[in-house]
Amino acid sequence: MEAARKQILGYFIDLLTFDEAVEKTKKAIELRNKLHIITINPEIIETANKNQELSQLIHNSELVIPESAGIKLALKLKGINQEQIPGIDFAKRIIAECDKNNYSIALIGAEEDVIQKACINLNNEFKNLKISYIQNGYFSGEQEDKIIENLKNSGARFIAVALGVPKQELFIKRCMEKYPDAVYIGIGGAFDVWAGKVERAPKFFRAIGCEWFYRTITQPKRIKRVYKTLPIYLFKIIIEAIQKK
Ligand code: UDP
Repeated sequence: MEAARKQILGYFIDLLTFDEAVEKTKKAIELRNKLHIITINPEIIETANKNQELSQLIHNSELVIPESAGIKLALKLKGINQEQIPGIDFAKRIIAECDKNNYSIALIGAEEDVIQKACINLNNEFKNLKISYIQNGYFSGEQEDKIIENLKNSGARFIAVALGVPKQELFIKRCMEKYPDAVYIGIGGAFDVWAGKVERAPKFFRAIGCEWFYRTITQPKRIKRVYKTLPIYLFKIIIEAIQKK
């Protein structure tokens, strides 16, 4: 049976629990099915509204998980209680599953020292984990073909890409054209957290769905991003909810 989906501002979101989304991902990894997991939030939606290629990728994805409190709120306004699934937690859980089931993973993105340290920390946490390919996120267009070729040769089953939105999603699209037998996810600044370079919000902020708020006040470069997307997003979801009533 197909899982329920709901549209928010024109983008379908899967109404799955964290565990159900993990199961779907595990199945795809096991069967070597092509899958690009989108972790949807207001920022991706606003970016996709101006970027046809990104918008198409979200529409084509078979797993769009509600990564932020903003999406949870939009669904709530439509009468749906949906669990929030932060991409960073979700990716970590899938890595734990790969560790358990002997599926190799690849990590692409962030600065060289960050990706190296993230790898060390993951290997300390997951003793059996096989990381078959790593690549920092600062490569040129000319290097890309070789990187994708190496990724393919590594045989990685789960590939986490951290280049920021929309760069990571568009890069994943190009990887999938040449290496479709894997599961991909774009996870923004996750490697910075796994490397210990950036701290996650304290539990309290996470519990009330305000990790974004904590990150904004502790990383002021984000203020402009939030200021540009959040008010308009809130306005749109309220209008959409009123119109659908
Ligand atoms: N990054 C990268 N290559 C680039 C631009 C960014 O590897 O050309 C990395 C950057 O080092 C950081 C991540 O992408 O690790 C983006 O993090 P950001 O905090 O912007 O993402 P968010 O969590 O907000 O989606």
